[in-house]
Amino acid sequence: MTSKAAQTESDEPIWLAELPRSTARRDAAPPRVDICVIGGGIAGVATAFHARRAGLSVLLLEKNRIASRASGRNDGQILLGLGEHLNRLVSQFGEEESRRLWEFLERNSEETKVAIRTLGISCELKEEGGLRLSISESEQRELVESARLMEKEGIPHSLWTREELGRKAEWAKGFHGGLFVPGEAIFAPAAFVRGLAEAFEKEGGRIREQEEVLAIEGEAGNYLLKTASDLSLEASMIVHASSALAPQLDRSGFLDRVVFPFRGQVLLTGVLDSKLSARIPCWAMSSHFCYEYFRKHGDRLTLGGMRWSVKGEETGTMDDSRVNPEITRNLWAWLQEHIPEAASAGIERVWTGIMAGTPDGLPLIGPIPGQQGEFLCCAFNGYGMGFGFLAGKLCCELMTEGRSELPSAARFAPRRFT
Ligand SMILES: Cc1cc2nc3c(=O)[nH]c(=O)nc-3n(C[C@H](O)[C@H](O)[C@H](O)COP(=O)(O)OP(=O)(O)OC[C@H]3O[C@@H](n4cnc5c(N)ncnc54)[C@H](O)[C@@H]3O)c2cc1C
Repeated sequence: MTSKAAQTESDEPIWLAELPRSTARRDAAPPRVDICVIGGGIAGVATAFHARRAGLSVLLLEKNRIASRASGRNDGQILLGLGEHLNRLVSQFGEEESRRLWEFLERNSEETKVAIRTLGISCELKEEGGLRLSISESEQRELVESARLMEKEGIPHSLWTREELGRKAEWAKGFHGGLFVPGEAIFAPAAFVRGLAEAFEKEGGRIREQEEVLAIEGEAGNYLLKTASDLSLEASMIVHASSALAPQLDRSGFLDRVVFPFRGQVLLTGVLDSKLSARIPCWAMSSHFCYEYFRKHGDRLTLGGMRWSVKGEETGTMDDSRVNPEITRNLWAWLQEHIPEAASAGIERVWTGIMAGTPDGLPLIGPIPGQQGEFLCCAFNGYGMGFGFLAGKLCCELMTEGRSELPSAARFAPRRFT
């Protein structure tokens, strides 16, 4: 543990380390396509997949490897209602909008699971639910209020007092209670995104990894993309799914004003004692208003969060090759306090990932204001697994039909910031 607590270099995330090694996909690039997607994270791959299914010719360009950035470096929790407790969503957006947002996330979760099954993607999906744990009496009061709102909305849930939590999750210490949401799930995120990319290729989509887009010229119907390997590609429409890097290619300057990067950090414990491991369910778990999040992976635990505990909260950085040792120490202290039996497993690896945020905490899905033919599918504020698959579908519907019946579609429109 001591050496890991002092380390500053990011380890390879377990989700990428466990995938079979493969050479980069370098499909032949057609001289012209209907849609060129920039970025091979969950947003770009999902958009490309849906666009191909809609019968369009699609080329996806990825600077590194598919899912090598945030989509392969997260905690693999498919959450409902973001990490926020429902009462906070309702205070921010109102009952009506929160209902639509919840519907969107619920539908994303369902469609993601269906895609995993029908496409035969092997990504360790566990549909056992999620548990939010309160770290104070005041947070527990917010869980009680959220449970009341869930009851009203007919959302399945179960509110646990401290005593009930002691019976149902006796390995979790120092919490004031919990709210169990049966619809939440976990999976291995990089395996899901790579599996979806394979399905996209099988259906005739093209992918070029290690192909960084450097510049965009032209206009709707006639775009020209220049890449680092000197390719010039023509496309009728473009999707920016490059997350925190999207502002670099936005000629309008719009994204500079609304997207900001921040870094998250996760540690993976060593193998837990087998009796302890058997007692911890495969739930999507969090505490402290989702500032800390954790789950089981095989016989180990991942634990992320603690951004708030360091100066600057890791905002503004684009560097996922380094970790913050102070955060590692604070995560470790959290583990010792809240799951003390896990501490003897030590830390196996620590990694970071860069996310993109917006001022209202919601993603950008739709056309860039004033840039007809250029679409955004990015800035998921730390919850891209909860949005991604359906966000791609929404983006595709907006490109092909100019409208969508999906809940909250208008709320995600980039023009809300103009
Ligand atoms: C530590 C951590 C924990 C998280 N935990 C969760 C969780 O449990 N649940 C959840 O829902 N979300 C979680 N998230 C958030 C989630 O990972 C992101 O919201 C999601 O992965 C974003 O997907 P994306 O496709 O927008 O971005 P990315 O996955 O970052 O993909 C963007 C891609 O664009 C490529 N790119 C950039 N510029 C160019 C260019 N010029 N040319 C070509 N390609 C380019 C990049 O290389 C990258 O692969 C977490 C994130 C982190 C970092």
